[in-house]
Amino acid sequence: MKIAVAKETRDGETRVAMVPELVTKLTSLGYDVAVEPDAGAGALIADEEYAAAGAVVEPDALASADVVVSVQPLPVESIRRLRKGATTISFLPGGQVPDIVADLRDCGITSHAMELVPRISRAQSMDALSSQALVAGYRCAIVAAGLLRRFFPLNMTAAGTVPPAEVVVLGAGVAGLQAIATAKRLGAVVKAYDVRAAAAEEIRSMGAQSIDLELETLEGAGGYAREMTEDRAARQREALAPYIANADALITTAAVPGRQAPLLVTAEMVERMKPGSVVIDLAAESGGNVEGSVAGDVVKIGHAQVWGGANVPSQMPGPASKLYAQNIVNIVTLMTGIADGEGVFAPDFDDEIVASSCVTRDGVILHEPTREIVEGAPA
Ligand code: NAD
Repeated sequence: MKIAVAKETRDGETRVAMVPELVTKLTSLGYDVAVEPDAGAGALIADEEYAAAGAVVEPDALASADVVVSVQPLPVESIRRLRKGATTISFLPGGQVPDIVADLRDCGITSHAMELVPRISRAQSMDALSSQALVAGYRCAIVAAGLLRRFFPLNMTAAGTVPPAEVVVLGAGVAGLQAIATAKRLGAVVKAYDVRAAAAEEIRSMGAQSIDLELETLEGAGGYAREMTEDRAARQREALAPYIANADALITTAAVPGRQAPLLVTAEMVERMKPGSVVIDLAAESGGNVEGSVAGDVVKIGHAQVWGGANVPSQMPGPASKLYAQNIVNIVTLMTGIADGEGVFAPDFDDEIVASSCVTRDGVILHEPTREIVEGAPA
């Protein structure tokens, strides 16, 4: 059976879904691995490296594949070249790409979305949201340090003492905790806030100060955050305002599953920041935690430079690809069975991970929220 690695086509996407060092994991399961030419170019991986690892580099790799792996959803032209009954594994935010989901359905493709892998312990090694959030969180802290025209750490020198920078992080999920850890390693004084009760301890375990706003916590299903009411949001903004006014760098990473990112910081709050201060909005692409931030751009609000994140893991394509590829290997391994002593791609749809991640199969959209967006709610 054949697994093909697609060359990404979306603007700004530099990652690739498989790296040469993990090709042998797939071949040892019994798969032939084919790679589209230049698939790794964005991540500085040459075709020759895939070939040396045992893959075949071929222009029409997708057409004869049983399974196609990619980071972004395949474009419609590629989907139409696939064999009926083939499987795609990628990120597939159905609500944002309804035409692609409709095409996958109509072409009889089985598609799995990495962001729908349930967050149960057995699936941790396949959790691409976490692996990419780790990269994004690290990058946020590094960008903040790069834009800020002062030291992160305390410096005590013969010429005098330079105080450390103060960094405030809002949202302490995987990305936020990684931003905290990175800013701490660079020597900043870090304070952080998250609406989940469990987050306070996680923030402190990273060596940062947990900001206590004396507001009710907002736990939703599965330990995730719940959406704020407008009144709760206004009280949170008011209580956070002095912390933000004092910060040299503000990093926001707050998200609520299935919703637009919550607006945590108004332009007026940014305007009260000091000259030279820096704001990093990791949520800029999904609505923004900071009013006025622009995804993929740096804008000036008051005295602050406001950096809006756009596909941030693509800014570190090597490690982001390697972690994503490991997630892919792990999910493909789960979907591989043995027949006559050979590995075969045979996903067990009674398995929670396989079933939950499946978006389309046999001409039907199985993921209900996506189906409602693409086909409309049932009458
Ligand atoms: P996320 O990317 O969905 O959101 C980022 C953070 O924003 C979350 O911590 C959330 O609580 C916070 N947030 C939401 N609204 C906020 C607001 N108004 N103000 C401040 N913060 C706000 O989060 P994530 O990285 O996916 O992690 C969310 C939870 O899932 C965490 O508890 C994490 O430990 C857990 N998790 C579990 C697994 C697993 O079990 N396999 C894997 C990854 C994450």
